[in-house]
Amino acid sequence: GSTEIKVNYKRARPSLVVSSIHAEQTDAIVHVIASTICGSDLHLYHKEIPGMRKGDIMGHEAIGIVHEVGERVSAVEVGDRVVVSAVISCGSCEYCKKGLFSCCDNTNPSKEMEELYGNRIAGIFGYSHLTGGYDGCQAEYVRVPHANVNLLRLSAEEYKSLGKKSLLLSDVACTGWHANELGGVKNGDVVGIWGAGPVGLMTAALALYRNASRVYVIDCIQARLDFARKIGAEVINFKEKDVVGIVKKSVPGGFDVTIDAVGFRYTNKSWRHKLERAVFAETDSVEALDEAIRCTRKGGVVSIVGDYLNLANRFPIGAAMEKHLTLKGGQVHPQKYWSDLLPILSADEIFGRLFTHYMKLSEAPKAYKKFDRKEDGIIKVFLIVDG
Ligand code: NAD
Ligand code: ZN
Repeated sequence: GSTEIKVNYKRARPSLVVSSIHAEQTDAIVHVIASTICGSDLHLYHKEIPGMRKGDIMGHEAIGIVHEVGERVSAVEVGDRVVVSAVISCGSCEYCKKGLFSCCDNTNPSKEMEELYGNRIAGIFGYSHLTGGYDGCQAEYVRVPHANVNLLRLSAEEYKSLGKKSLLLSDVACTGWHANELGGVKNGDVVGIWGAGPVGLMTAALALYRNASRVYVIDCIQARLDFARKIGAEVINFKEKDVVGIVKKSVPGGFDVTIDAVGFRYTNKSWRHKLERAVFAETDSVEALDEAIRCTRKGGVVSIVGDYLNLANRFPIGAAMEKHLTLKGGQVHPQKYWSDLLPILSADEIFGRLFTHYMKLSEAPKAYKKFDRKEDGIIKVFLIVDG
């Protein structure tokens, strides 16, 4: 059954409003205060992921105020300050119950993904019809399915101590923690992180929080490497230096844990002609992952949070097999990590400094361009809804 959820359309521009059609009793409508752009959105921006349709609304990170709730929503009330989970989970399937929220069986009806992977994966806001076709958070209002599971309610005190950092709880902070959890990063570990985007930098800050003895961050963007150095990481510019050579000299035996926070880039775009059947090219590039594997200590762990979607050429299966490596990866489970991260983010101002730019939602095209080109020292943009 479904209940009607009303949205105040007056304050919102029609092109940005999420429609309330198909509203369920378990939905909430959130009035978005701020959203942001993720490295994952760049894959859509470059049309590297099929399944987007004209008029789809992007974005999977938001903070806001609950505007309407369905009858079966009990975890939040109208007027509550909330964080929206990037990943949409049902909370009641066998995977959700185990805390594997991004493996949820019930929120992504896409047959293509099931065919590609042999199993379903969870729905994601604003991330193409391959992940459920949910309209996203770069909007003035967003419909949140299974609101009891996919919203984090912030008390007045929590919001006061978190402020803008609360926006990091939709995805990036949780993904950084997820990367550390997958890698099992612990006291004394030497950790190598490929990618100094918001995800890589968050991962580095949290690895240091977990008392990793040394953290190396590899990228080629100076402003991002500077940030990494400021928080206590050592850095390598892969355009200037031979990463494998440096690691060999300065970390004998290799890293205990390596983390890929870069992800794929398609080199062959032939799939573009087959959008509806979601056929991907078999050419995801894996340069960063290849380097990471070669820099991992024997018996070490490779944690993959950079996104990969299909088959990859030149994947160094030999090194991975012969060195007894453990490879782990996956989309983040934001809901699982919220309680761990609330106190960590509240206590340290460094996390808030990831927001290098403040722009209005109406300037989103400009923000996308800047974030894509990594111009102007941009790390993460705080997109304020100006409806
Ligand atoms: P970003 O684009 O801002 O950052 C990526 C960084 O990688 C850039 O600074 C770039 O210069 C660097 N880079 C590119 N090639 C490299 C190489 N060969 N070696 C080292 N660094 C290299 O993106 P982001 O927001 O930080 O996201 C990073 C990745 O994480 C993306 O693939 C994104 O899709 C993925 N992601 C995954 C999850 C998840 O749940 N698993 C969540 C969020 C983002
Ligand atoms: Zn589920």
